[in-house]
Amino acid sequence: MVVVMKPGTKQQEIDKLVAQFQLQGFQVGITNGVGCSILGLVGDTTTLDINKISINENVERVMRVQEPYKKANRKFHPEDTVVKIGSAAIGGGNFSVIAGPCSVESRDQITQVAKDVQASGAAFLRGGAFKPRTSPYSFQGMGAPGLDLLLEAKAATGMPIVTELMSPKYCQLFEDKVDVIQIGARNMQNFDLLKEVGKLSKPILLKRGLSASYEEWIMSAEYIMAEGNENVILCERGIRTFETYTRNTLDVSAIPAVKRMSHLPVVVDPSHSAGMYWMVEPLALAAVAAGADGLIIEVHNDPQSAKCDGQQSLTPERFDALMKKISALVDLTGKTMVK
Ligand code: PEP
Ligand code: MN
Repeated sequence: MVVVMKPGTKQQEIDKLVAQFQLQGFQVGITNGVGCSILGLVGDTTTLDINKISINENVERVMRVQEPYKKANRKFHPEDTVVKIGSAAIGGGNFSVIAGPCSVESRDQITQVAKDVQASGAAFLRGGAFKPRTSPYSFQGMGAPGLDLLLEAKAATGMPIVTELMSPKYCQLFEDKVDVIQIGARNMQNFDLLKEVGKLSKPILLKRGLSASYEEWIMSAEYIMAEGNENVILCERGIRTFETYTRNTLDVSAIPAVKRMSHLPVVVDPSHSAGMYWMVEPLALAAVAAGADGLIIEVHNDPQSAKCDGQQSLTPERFDALMKKISALVDLTGKTMVK
């Protein structure tokens, strides 16, 4: 961290600040320029609050040299993290597709979709039991019984299940029943929830907030990792922009950028990005070409009667056709498709 002092600051004020930093365990290098001094702090500055230092009336500017995230930072962990779930894996050259309906609606629905997406090559089954809906009058998900239907679909297919957790009160239930715990876009900065899932042993799929910067998103992963759970998968799902044609705007740049900043795997959700079934295919292929480690795609056996997000759901037939293209493109990128 670099602290630039205001021109004309008295030496005794500089000494006072230097002594404060030293007391906190930092080494401080002092460079005296023309009219102003610059302090270079050496040590782990992640816990230092820039705003607190800026309050000092003799301080002109404070700049971080290092990113505020450590555990998620590629600088300190150059090799890709591989998140392993049973015989499946995501990251480090392993490409996985997670597919299934937006929400679990019935035993027949989830089991049928599970069998269909598995036959097409999906490695994981998705399906929300607890749904974050904009309107309190919309279908809120089946709740805990939905988890049991997911488990039945898992028993029928062997596919690990991915589903969203919205409240810390269900942490133990999810720890017991779920293979990958999804934290939704709306909860990306629910820090209490992040801390709680950080104490669990299950991998976390962390969706990007609707208007979160890359750094904010990675800092949320850092919250989970700081509690001990280092199995975090990042998920780009489209962000809010001025464009209203699509539900969200898929930020393709996030894939190479975040993979450069962090060693965590990045998967892409083209369904929530597009909000329209016919756009899922081009966005999915763009994500693979840009280096994504996986995809999460909504598939429904009867999109017209879906209780949630039917408009962006692929039929099993469309999903099957898309999987053939995804598989060919994954081969081209040199990654291995996990089934
Ligand atoms: C979902 O996956 O169904 C979902 C609600 O996603 P997001 O949190 O990205 O909106
Ligand atoms: Mn959905």
